Amino acid sequence: MSVLAINGGTKVREKPFPAYSVIGEEEKQAVMEVLDSGVLSRYLGCWHDDFYGGPKVRQLEKEWADYVGVKHAITVNSCTSGLYCAVGATGVGPGDEVIVSPYTMSASAVAPLIYNAVPVFADIEPDYYCLDPASVEACITERTRVIIVVDLFGHPFDHEAIMSIARKHNLIVIEDCAQAPGAGANGRMTGTLGDIGVFSLNYHKHIHTGEGGVIVTDDDALAERMRLIRNHAEAVVEAKGVTDLNNMIGFNYRMTEIEAAIGSCQLRKLDGLLSDRQQNCAHLNERLNAIPAITPPDIRDGCTHSFYVHALKFDSEIAGVSRDDYINAVRAELPVTELREKEGVLLACGYARPLYLQPMYQKKIAYGPDGFPFVGPHYTGKVNYERGICPVAERMHFQELFTHELMRPPITSEDIDDIIEAFTKVWENRNELTSVPTVST
Ligand SMILES: *Cc1c(COP(=O)(O)O)cnc(C)c1O
Repeated sequence: MSVLAINGGTKVREKPFPAYSVIGEEEKQAVMEVLDSGVLSRYLGCWHDDFYGGPKVRQLEKEWADYVGVKHAITVNSCTSGLYCAVGATGVGPGDEVIVSPYTMSASAVAPLIYNAVPVFADIEPDYYCLDPASVEACITERTRVIIVVDLFGHPFDHEAIMSIARKHNLIVIEDCAQAPGAGANGRMTGTLGDIGVFSLNYHKHIHTGEGGVIVTDDDALAERMRLIRNHAEAVVEAKGVTDLNNMIGFNYRMTEIEAAIGSCQLRKLDGLLSDRQQNCAHLNERLNAIPAITPPDIRDGCTHSFYVHALKFDSEIAGVSRDDYINAVRAELPVTELREKEGVLLACGYARPLYLQPMYQKKIAYGPDGFPFVGPHYTGKVNYERGICPVAERMHFQELFTHELMRPPITSEDIDDIIEAFTKVWENRNELTSVPTVST
């Protein structure tokens, strides 16, 4: 019998996994060309030819629009700022509600707050982890204006159901597709499944420019408002002849020429990088499926999954040990990943804690000490952020789901065999785990 590493036995593997890396010679050369040109950014924050940025920015926007199959692509300096542009463009403001997901990176829910609107959390689907259409519909009030959906882990949201709810209630849908570039549903790419899509180009994403983001839409009016918010709207509207001043407060969300040049190289690599991830996840799915308590991710009919994160379910009743005890024991068998040593093994119980459990929502303190915009003269609703409002998200996070990143390039199929061996070893020796389950909070 092999002793589990968590009980002092030998680990399945000591040698760190290779650092995540998608940058090569093409990017280096593209950056040098921009540096040689001397034009590191060419934006002007006034109504002028350069209001829309320099040549590399415009080139990336054209390429991205072509790739996704959409009329407008608008580069920004992050997906977070892209989400802020998108919410601002819809005209949302004080007193309005925006339906958001609780199970996502925090920016997808915070975007409404930037415009003093109130985020309302709908629950997620138990199989695909995206917003549940029935729960979304139940959250709609006369104050609802926008739904922000998330293609979580790289799986497209249920666009048919949610778009039909949105059309019925005259709501705009913003698709946070930060985790799903290149995925799609029924022949359409992510980003085009809602009214506005927002991608991320931060270092952790499938392709990146260090920091960066791209917004896409087919709607001319929304596109122009987003370009204004990106670049000092209030200083531009008069000369440009814009008369609707709602939310025409500008920011500086501009991408540099260097980032845009890297982005063009990266976009060309996206399909290849995606297929590496898909193959790695298929390998893991096939082998981990042999462990009776583990369920690999399901994919909705007609959808493709881009596997930003590999999310699987663990059934503690079948196993006779809790998810947390099992996963902690698997972690103990595996090494860290180079350049991210301090984070430990890139395997976790759950994903991001349901967002409404953050202090900002629990205490309802965002702007000033008196609860604005959750309470105050503009807002006639009474938003609920108590534990229990999204039972599926809570069950997934605290009991069933586990997620890992050990499928990102340049991980090899031999590396993946070590990961499978760790899961299998702990499964076969799970009687060594304590009979007192620990539960994460
Ligand atoms: C990464 C991520 C973001 C934020 O992206 P940035 O470019 O870092 O601002 C937003 N939403 C989701 C779902 C993400 O995964």
